[in-house]
Amino acid sequence: PLFLLNLLYILMDDAFDEECDYLFKAVLIGDSGVGKSNLLSRFAKDEFRLDSKPTIGVEFAYRNIKVRDKLIKAQIWDTAGQERFRAITSSYYRGALGAVLVYDITRRSSYESVGKWLVELREFGGEDMVVILVGNKCDLSESREVDKEEGKAFAEEEGLCFMETSALKNLNVEQVFLQMITKILEITSQRSL
Ligand code: GDP
Repeated sequence: PLFLLNLLYILMDDAFDEECDYLFKAVLIGDSGVGKSNLLSRFAKDEFRLDSKPTIGVEFAYRNIKVRDKLIKAQIWDTAGQERFRAITSSYYRGALGAVLVYDITRRSSYESVGKWLVELREFGGEDMVVILVGNKCDLSESREVDKEEGKAFAEEEGLCFMETSALKNLNVEQVFLQMITKILEITSQRSL
């Protein structure tokens, strides 16, 4: 599976659209059931969705997006449930410049896992990886178990961006990915100066 994943990634690189200024890879991570797949399909709107790869256990979607006059091809990877078996490997993170680290505001245990995912991101991701902490399902305020302020304070401590979203109601989803892509773009263009 590792070999297939790498091969897949190389093929994806080859699929890089000449018209695009940048191709960015970013990953979604967080406990199972927090809403990662729904956030991704909201963002990708199924427009550039390729086949899911159940045998490999990773799904991804593309979206072309214009930020600061640059055409970005954002390639976003989803775990396709592998996090349940703690089967995420370093290939999943390889080459990723950004990560959306998701918890469910109605499930405290998913928030308590954030630290563990962050350790993994920092171990396998690049030093400059842009991480956005996302408290999803903010439409379910009556079942809230994690205060917004708590998520925000943790993000500040760790130097992460923070947002609450609802994939269901399509609240802040576009903003999360836009913020991540803009930050990646800033870092990338500073580097190439
Ligand atoms: P994943 O395992 O992290 O990929 O999570 P999924 O995207 O499969 O979502 C898990 C469950 O949460 C599904 O039943 C979704 O319908 C539900 N869900 C996802 N996002 C939201 C949201 O923003 N609000 C609500 N109320 N439910 C959501």
